[in-house]
Amino acid sequence: MRDLSIYIHVPFCVRKCLYCDFLSFPVSGEDGQGIRNYVNLLKQEIKSSAADYRNHRAVSVFWGGGTPSLLSGEAAWDVMETVRAHFHMVEDAEITMEMNPGTVDEGKLRMYREAGVNRISIGLQSADDEELRRIGRIHDYAAFLKTYESARRAGLSNINIDLMAALPGQSVASYRKSLACVAALVPEHISAYSLILEEGTPLYERQGQYLFPTEEEDRLMYALTKEYLASCGYRRYEISNYAKEGRECRHNKVYWQRGDYAGFGLGASSMVGNVRWSNPAGMAGYEVYVEGLARLGTDGPAAGPDRHVLTVEEQMEEYMFLGLRMMRGVGRQEFARQFGRRMEEVYGGVLDKLCRQGLLVAGEDYVRLTDRGIDVSNCVLAEFLL
Ligand code: SF4
Repeated sequence: MRDLSIYIHVPFCVRKCLYCDFLSFPVSGEDGQGIRNYVNLLKQEIKSSAADYRNHRAVSVFWGGGTPSLLSGEAAWDVMETVRAHFHMVEDAEITMEMNPGTVDEGKLRMYREAGVNRISIGLQSADDEELRRIGRIHDYAAFLKTYESARRAGLSNINIDLMAALPGQSVASYRKSLACVAALVPEHISAYSLILEEGTPLYERQGQYLFPTEEEDRLMYALTKEYLASCGYRRYEISNYAKEGRECRHNKVYWQRGDYAGFGLGASSMVGNVRWSNPAGMAGYEVYVEGLARLGTDGPAAGPDRHVLTVEEQMEEYMFLGLRMMRGVGRQEFARQFGRRMEEVYGGVLDKLCRQGLLVAGEDYVRLTDRGIDVSNCVLAEFLL
């Protein structure tokens, strides 16, 4: 049986953050009719698609969004029961739910745990209330602390906290304070990304109103993250992800290692056996799609949206630029096993050039980025496009 990771998208948020270009939209009131309808669609999609995965075993489930924690405990349980009823799940599957501070209390967190959730990811972004306000987050630091403490009391022992650098009005000193506040709580995992201003978002439109960190300050924040978290016992295992021993996110590693994943919900992407597709991104289209799946029953992949079969070149490119995001790098033997060619045959010139420039280390078994290579990873990874 092949391993499978399951992604479940919940597109609802309390309100839209000013920098957000994810597939999400505001809903009013917890568990409104719209959310209930969506949960029914999710269950139907999972049920109707399961036959395509009879030769897979689910090793992880990741609830992403949006804000999945707008779902009631009962709704999460209901969906997880559907997954368990229709998929082979390994006993110790990692089941993560993303959540935003202020959208859960201890009772709800206990219900999520009963539903099987054993890892949560809390979107804090900053410990500075003024910075949070500027990017339109719904919470302040006190609300985050309450959520974090409730999660610990509810028995959740595997927690990620999301942080952001390069925020409007942020200084290196305030970023350092956010890092210190987070590390002092000793979560099992910390993700730290830099804000990317996406065109079309309100923050992009009003960027002139704010003073953003300079490029040099951004680099200082990046260096600080590495050094500070290392001094607190976190191991960096991917460009932006840090974990305590044994607490790396199994689900995300599947993406970076090009494993099979099945996405359910609005706009969710899947990739199984080098075939990639995405669900409709509009609710009306998604409804039609799920109804069609239910009618067709188990017709297999042909029943879904357009599917792209990745060429061997595309697979090799992905293998390199996703795998090199991880600190351990990419395996030479695995490359040869997957593609029937040695890495040198395909990328010999690029490997030599990047090694000479001190951006890459090519060992006997693994090829990985150096610290300098990681600092300019966007340029380095682009070299692997065929
Ligand atoms: S909580 Fe996340 S998904 Fe929702 S609006 Fe904010 S950034 Fe977007």
